[in-house]
Amino acid sequence: VNLRRALHRAPELSFQEHGTAARVEGWLAEHGLRPERVAGTGVVALLDSGRPGRTVLLRADMDALPIQEANAHDYASVVPGVMHACGHDGHTAILCHVARALVELRDTLQGRVLFVFQPAEEGVGGALSMLEAGLVERFRPDCAVGLHLWSELPTGELAITDGPFMASADQFEVVISGRGGHGAMPHQARDPIVAAAEMVLALQTVVSRTVDPEQPAVLTIGHISAGSAFNVIPDGARLGGTVRTYSKAVKSTIQHTLARVVQGVASAHGVTAELHYEEITLPVVNDPVICALAREAAARVGAFRFAPPGYRTMAAEDFSYFLDRVPGVFFFVGAGNPEVGAAWPHHHPRFEIDERALTHGCELLVEIARSAAAPE
Ligand SMILES: [Zn+2]
Ligand SMILES: [Zn+2]
Repeated sequence: VNLRRALHRAPELSFQEHGTAARVEGWLAEHGLRPERVAGTGVVALLDSGRPGRTVLLRADMDALPIQEANAHDYASVVPGVMHACGHDGHTAILCHVARALVELRDTLQGRVLFVFQPAEEGVGGALSMLEAGLVERFRPDCAVGLHLWSELPTGELAITDGPFMASADQFEVVISGRGGHGAMPHQARDPIVAAAEMVLALQTVVSRTVDPEQPAVLTIGHISAGSAFNVIPDGARLGGTVRTYSKAVKSTIQHTLARVVQGVASAHGVTAELHYEEITLPVVNDPVICALAREAAARVGAFRFAPPGYRTMAAEDFSYFLDRVPGVFFFVGAGNPEVGAAWPHHHPRFEIDERALTHGCELLVEIARSAAAPE
């Protein structure tokens, strides 16, 4: 709790986690490990039991969000406009204490545990930067394990789901070019605003008319902009949004249909449209064998209820890139409790966790690491 609150007070944005990384390095060194810097503000440390077994990668993310905290507690953010509103302060504190506990338990440990403190989870490529630094080639992990404190589940509940668990996230931008003119003489212009408006509506049919209804998918337009005066038709318009799916096939169907609709509507209005489409994360897909191991570990720790089977979310996580390279599990640790103010969604200015979930996360990761590192 003390460590989490200290991190909460001093949040840092993606790839700027200098203070956090230094604190993590100090902690790991103080507890007998030899931390190393990776990808700027990433930190890794290896605990080798010296006994045969497997290599388990445990990962925490460290970055905060560009949000002004609206909570008034005494450990609220002191950095204007920056806040730990996703719980990554908790993840970092949990993994620090897991490292401490596993060092203490070294004599009973088998195999190796690699602690990975990742920068920049919030949509800007932190996981990829760690992987591009060669973590998998160098340490050859047999499995990868990560967790997210989750305010939408009550404290004491866990969601460990086989297969697809969180969605892929892509980002797109459409730049429409028309011809501006006088608001009173639309016949002399090519109005990009009307084209954009029709595009927004036409895009609502991409999921409803081209994706198998058994396959979850979302297409959201998150921003739109054009013009600056009431009596002027502008030259151009822009809109952008996100696509979320659980499978590469659905994602590719949506990407192709999106392009066709954008071009079709543009052509109907005599304007041109450029589509920029970018992948941010892959879907998080859990390995059923390691999920079973995690559920057994949770049962041994006790005091947990499992969320309904098949619990998943269309939110995204770049831990997906680890799971694309190494089999493993990403799971949610319930941290919601209105009695302590933990009743707000992630990324909300009043986001809070029930700090009892920190203990749950620690106990679980220690137990999962011990059993996953044991030889087969
Ligand atoms: Zn987040
Ligand atoms: Zn997060």
